[in-house]
Amino acid sequence: MLDADFFRRWMTVTAASVEREAEHLTALDSPIGDADHGSNLQRGFTAVAATLEKEAPDTPGAVLTLAGRQLISTVGGASGPLYGTLLRRTGKALGDAGEVSEEQLAEALRAGVEAVMTLGGAAPGDKTMIDTLVPAVDALGTGFAAARTAAEQGALATTPLQARKGRASYLGERSIGHQDPGATSAALLIAALAEAAG
Ligand code: ADP
Ligand code: MG
Ligand code: MG
Repeated sequence: MLDADFFRRWMTVTAASVEREAEHLTALDSPIGDADHGSNLQRGFTAVAATLEKEAPDTPGAVLTLAGRQLISTVGGASGPLYGTLLRRTGKALGDAGEVSEEQLAEALRAGVEAVMTLGGAAPGDKTMIDTLVPAVDALGTGFAAARTAAEQGALATTPLQARKGRASYLGERSIGHQDPGATSAALLIAALAEAAG
């Protein structure tokens, strides 16, 4: 079973890997965006880690809801409301249980990913974070390691795609040949889940 500690660890491991990869994420956002994805997420997840330490919510749902709210209020770019919605909706789906199963997490994350698709209007193949999150959630039934592999493959598979959502879509065919920054950061989020699980 997964308790609030596990979810706090998930968020702090994500914050650490976003910090480590911030320059890379911003570099990916340079040719097909406005070169701020790394700094956007670094600001957001640093704030998430600080808030979780201060408020120490004691259920999985409360950890993710608070983290999502924090992302929405600190990240100005498109990715803030999208990741914020992912975590808030997932947290809401987990309810107020003190511990949840991996199966419950998989189900809740699916609700979170669907909320991101509703908010942003992106479907798989549009060259966004959705191309990482959908295969990751599909693989989660098989375990965290499988989800991580699926996420990393999903992010790499965005390179040949033409962007149909977000800033990169303004480039039309010129968005082809570049890996999507948000799909790349989403793979960090899923990898952190595997890492938090040990
Ligand atoms: P901004 O584009 O506002 O500068 P970021 O650079 O932080 O925001 O985030 C860009 C990432 O957000 C993209 O690489 C993409 O993965 C994701 N994104 C943008 N628009 C959407 C959308 N409508 N649905 C899903 N993801 C999106
Ligand atoms: Mg950007
Ligand atoms: Mg921006």
